[in-house]
Amino acid sequence: MASKPIYLNFVDKGIANRFDYGSWEEIEVHKHLLKYPKLYEGLLKHEFSHQEGNHKLADLMLDIKYDGIPKPGFYKFLFKTPGAWWQLSPVWIRNKTIIWDVSSLFMWLVFLLGCLIIGIGIKEVLI
Ligand SMILES: [Zn+2]
Repeated sequence: MASKPIYLNFVDKGIANRFDYGSWEEIEVHKHLLKYPKLYEGLLKHEFSHQEGNHKLADLMLDIKYDGIPKPGFYKFLFKTPGAWWQLSPVWIRNKTIIWDVSSLFMWLVFLLGCLIIGIGIKEVLI
């Protein structure tokens, strides 16, 4: 099914993303990843494992499994590269297209539900 051309683009925001633009796809990777060859290779393999098209449940499952990403290198890169934190954004605007990141949306939903549950718990204890 991999019939579209996939282009590689080096950017200064986020870590690694794969965007589908209909007739072609683009994998964006942070340019500083080149200083972390194992992490770069792992993230590229991860992005190639994603499905064609945006907004897929299979992509969420792949991100939850966190496949192929060397964790120690990942955290070192994350804390040394402030622009990498843009990866947490649930919305990306690329090529005049708004792209929702299903994995980020899910993460934010879990985080907000956790805050809500903790907030209700604190309220019950205090009142
Ligand atoms: Zn992913």
